[in-house]
Amino acid sequence: MLDKTILPDNELTAWDRDHFFHPSTHMGQHARGESPNRIIAGGEGVHIVDRQGRRSLDAFAGLYCVNVGYGREKIAEAIAEQAAKLPYYHAYVGHGSEPSIRLAKMIIDRAPQGMSRVFFGLSGSDANETNVKLVWYYNNVLGRPKKKKIISRWRGYHGSGLMTGSLTGLAAFHNQFDLPLPPVLHTEAPYYFRRPDRSMDEDQFSAWCAEKLEELILAEGPETVAAFIGEPVLGTGGIVPPPRGYWEKIQAVLAKYDVLLIADEVVTGFGRLGSMFGSDHYGIRPDLITIAKGLTSAYAPLSGVIVSEKVWRVLEEGSDKFGPIGHGWTYSAHPLCAAAGVANLELVDELGLVANAGEVGAYFLKGLKEALADHPHVGEVRGEGLLAAVEFVKDKDDRAFFDAAEKVGPRVAAALLERGVIGRAMPHGDILGFAPPLCLTREEADVVVAAAKAAVEAVLPR
Ligand code: PMP
Repeated sequence: MLDKTILPDNELTAWDRDHFFHPSTHMGQHARGESPNRIIAGGEGVHIVDRQGRRSLDAFAGLYCVNVGYGREKIAEAIAEQAAKLPYYHAYVGHGSEPSIRLAKMIIDRAPQGMSRVFFGLSGSDANETNVKLVWYYNNVLGRPKKKKIISRWRGYHGSGLMTGSLTGLAAFHNQFDLPLPPVLHTEAPYYFRRPDRSMDEDQFSAWCAEKLEELILAEGPETVAAFIGEPVLGTGGIVPPPRGYWEKIQAVLAKYDVLLIADEVVTGFGRLGSMFGSDHYGIRPDLITIAKGLTSAYAPLSGVIVSEKVWRVLEEGSDKFGPIGHGWTYSAHPLCAAAGVANLELVDELGLVANAGEVGAYFLKGLKEALADHPHVGEVRGEGLLAAVEFVKDKDDRAFFDAAEKVGPRVAAALLERGVIGRAMPHGDILGFAPPLCLTREEADVVVAAAKAAVEAVLPR
């Protein structure tokens, strides 16, 4: 940690503005010092503390990733021990290290049925890049070179690389970069609150989403459509749990046209919904699963693709045809990150965090609903496990949005921060999101609810 006495805050801040190119940041405002820069210095449990000593309850777990909470010595020690023993060796041509092999086994032991192998990367984005390549490779092995298109959903989030930014169904990730790339198509989001016809019930809306998907597959030609990717619960696109029957109906369409299913569990994997995986939670039977965030609770960067036995058999056949697979990263299965992963998953079990996410999540959502559902500018309070969102509307009856220039979401998030709690103004719509560490207690949930109520009422008086 930087020593405050050696490096004064103003100097660090100046270096930050002059030299640090921050992701997802208004570049000009930051460089000119017009937007806040907060330098985080430490963390303990569900709290972080900045260099000024201000403590905040991090009800977004960083970026929905610090699932076990901050300051877990067990993980820090596992990383340090591995660094002293063997900081790095690659995983190419059959090499490995004990933590990476152990972690692969631990993941498969926890994964939904039918999964058999794990390919390791470093970020959710690179794992989804791997998914796209595996899907293409799979169809090349099967002699179906035209079957390459990938269908994603509007409001889905799958990363910000070229292919993965294309899969992401959010305009800001497309317009600024000439995306999406052509093999990517988008279908309807399972956003029940904003369904096209309010007379539809959840089952009808799910059926409508599945019909739209089928129409798209037929319009493109099923022989050209390789895979469908979706998050069990839409995350960055607004924290939207699926309507009843959605996954069952979607999977029926995919099966009909021999389209693979990629479950992007970067947020939902390892307990966030109160089940080890979102796939188990919703009866999803994926061919490939993307994991990251909760795999190490972000103590070290690590992601993965969990491959089903069905897909693996074809991939294996591919190597017999084409030779070793031409895909890998220098840092695939990095021993330090794998050691963090092993210690993290052990901790998730030891602390019973999956069950806690379900129990405290239900309590938290109930609290949020009681505090805010009747507010005249709250359109919906929704969630699942320890994922929750409050969606603001200008008009409760017609569900009209506020003018974006009013920045209602960011203002509520700022008012929340003033009250010592971090939530996230979801980047697309006036939605305040929560994804606290899975170790959240009921008392801490009460603190978040009280702060959220006060913040909403300060920005949007009743
Ligand atoms: N998939 C999902 C569902 C995500 O939420 C994210 C990140 N928020 C990603 C993929 C991309 O992960 P990363 O930022 O680690 O590349």
